[in-house]
Amino acid sequence: MQLPSSLLENAVSEFAKLPGIGKKTALRLVLHLLKQEEVDVNHFSETIAQMRSGIKFCKRCFNISDSDICAICSNSMRNKHLICVVENIRDVIAIESTDQFSGAYHVLGGIISPLDGVGPNDLTIEALINRVEKEEIEELVFALNPNIQGDTTIYYIQKKLQNSTCKITTIARGISFGGELEFADELTLGRSLANRLPVESYVR
Ligand SMILES: [Zn+2]
Repeated sequence: MQLPSSLLENAVSEFAKLPGIGKKTALRLVLHLLKQEEVDVNHFSETIAQMRSGIKFCKRCFNISDSDICAICSNSMRNKHLICVVENIRDVIAIESTDQFSGAYHVLGGIISPLDGVGPNDLTIEALINRVEKEEIEELVFALNPNIQGDTTIYYIQKKLQNSTCKITTIARGISFGGELEFADELTLGRSLANRLPVESYVR
């Protein structure tokens, strides 16, 4: 793409680094910004810069936070003895938006994946083990993606906690709501049968 200005070109290539943004979309966004008032564009770039420099990670659960301890960990209404273990911050946001979970979280920062060079020491697993011991955690609920890496991660952490009294569970895995049985893969259908639920705990 030939652009008439190197300043424009620099801006386009910065936008094009964002996930899901190609050169054409980047150009459209940059031209849009060019039409805005200079003060608005300054505000836009300052907001991004402040977000990057000011944001913190909760020292307890590694969720994103404006302070050392996040809003969920410091909320006295939440059950601190129940921890939902997730891969990343997007998962916290997804679970929070269900309004179905009143415990706390632990963000692993990834999952164990030897092929991608991610081992246990690259994640916040040690901090999680320490929390289970120090914070008298009664239950860990794993809400990881249902794949080999997710299962490996659960297995590894479970092994580490085998002498602990902490209960270890995972979120239910099965047929998605609105899905059709005949199109479900065998593993999903098999697990749905193995993890069947009493109807009264399901239909409310
Ligand atoms: Zn926290």
